[in-house]
Amino acid sequence: MNQREGFGNAAALARATGQGFDYLIVGAGFAGSVLAERLARGMGRKVLLVEKRSHIGGNAHDRHDDAGVLIHPYGPHIFHTNSADIFEYLSRFTQWRPYQHRVLAQVDGQAVPLPINLDTVNRLYGMNLTSFEMEKFLESVAEKKDRVLTSEDAVVSKVGRDLYNKFFRGYTRKHWGLDPSELDASVTSRIPTRTNRDDRYFADTYQAMPVHGYTRMFEAMLAHPNIKVMLNTDYQEVVELLPWKHMIYTGPVDAFFNYKYGKLPYRSVRFEHKTLGQQQFQPVGTVNFPNDYAYTRVTEFKHLTGQSHAATSVVYEYPCAEGDPYYPVPRPENAALYKRYEAEAEQLDNVTFVGRLATYKYYNMDQVVGQALTAFKALSEHEVSSPAPLSEHIPVRSRSEVAGAA
Ligand code: FAD
Ligand code: UDP
Repeated sequence: MNQREGFGNAAALARATGQGFDYLIVGAGFAGSVLAERLARGMGRKVLLVEKRSHIGGNAHDRHDDAGVLIHPYGPHIFHTNSADIFEYLSRFTQWRPYQHRVLAQVDGQAVPLPINLDTVNRLYGMNLTSFEMEKFLESVAEKKDRVLTSEDAVVSKVGRDLYNKFFRGYTRKHWGLDPSELDASVTSRIPTRTNRDDRYFADTYQAMPVHGYTRMFEAMLAHPNIKVMLNTDYQEVVELLPWKHMIYTGPVDAFFNYKYGKLPYRSVRFEHKTLGQQQFQPVGTVNFPNDYAYTRVTEFKHLTGQSHAATSVVYEYPCAEGDPYYPVPRPENAALYKRYEAEAEQLDNVTFVGRLATYKYYNMDQVVGQALTAFKALSEHEVSSPAPLSEHIPVRSRSEVAGAA
């Protein structure tokens, strides 16, 4: 008996006895793990969580490196949110260490605060402005725009051309492989401008790191007898073998549809990790290099995690086109292509698309948690009104097929 027959028999038996999984969840990042937790713990559903990598947590996964320093293999992840609901939900699975992230940008031979604030401008230009004077200064250098459409517009309309060239143009071209004029305004609008001396990277109400790391938080989320986690498995290996009623897909949406409309651009990054035999490498969590080197930024994890250790570990981020998909690329033509995939996704009755890759949104962790909690609410309401049958080796079912069968 080969493995496929073995699974096939198990599947037939499961169907015959009314067993199997209520949900097949693809991807064990925030989107998949929050939904697995809610469906199992909140509704008593049976969940199979399939992850193609060798670990849970998606890109937020963390682990100790060979020296014993807690690192983020997929780049620095700092939790911040304005939502009390999202913070309280995650607090069920972890305690927190308060942490306010700070970033310096290496510009014109100086390391100055980013987001641009009063100190940034005074130090760069050798001035001694007050907050009020800085507002006037920015008004004098800002370029008037009737419409702010691109990432270039968003910056030059606030801080003018020189600060744009020093902080944003080079970094954005390096990170995205595109000029800021080719990206939606929303990308650089993530970074505020301040006329006071606040040098925190984020201004959210809740800013904290899970005390024992993200992976431990994910383990607590998924520790439920109704959740089976299958690592090192592409969902395509099991989708037709194991019976399930509804699929939640959190991988790249274009891959799900076999790239039928073409590839959606996702930007990748090569992470170069180093461990150094010294207590501290740099004064703050992250130093950005807008204009020099092939990497965009260097992050020292001990600032984020608060770990005490004789050594320290850092990561250099080299943006690239090929590799794991990390960033959806916000620009009009990509939004148009995504719309075509989204229309296909909406036709599927028994598949729900959630997360940064599956909905092609440049979302932070808290936004993905919020999106997953909203999807859970919709699923629980839908389930009550129309209970689903187990799949009959049919991976996905369109809404028209469902209507036709009724
Ligand atoms: P993912 O974490 O990508 O999870 C999807 C999972 O699906 C992956 O584990 C993948 O292996 C799996 N998968 C895909 N296809 C298949 C398949 N065919 N079969 C089985 N499994 C599959 N957010 C913040 O809030 N703060 C930060 O500081 C921050 N920093 C970031 C830094 C970097 C470099 C990056 C790339 C992102 C950062 N983010 C940050 C964003 C954060 O990583 C995401 O918002 C969040 O992790 C997305 O969760 P997700 O579940 O949607 O996707
Ligand atoms: N950005 C920049 N210079 C910087 C930092 C950010 O031009 O020093 C721009 C760049 O386009 C970047 C975007 O602002 O992609 C958002 O920055 P953020 O730090 O939020 O990016 P992420 O942490 O998601 O990579």
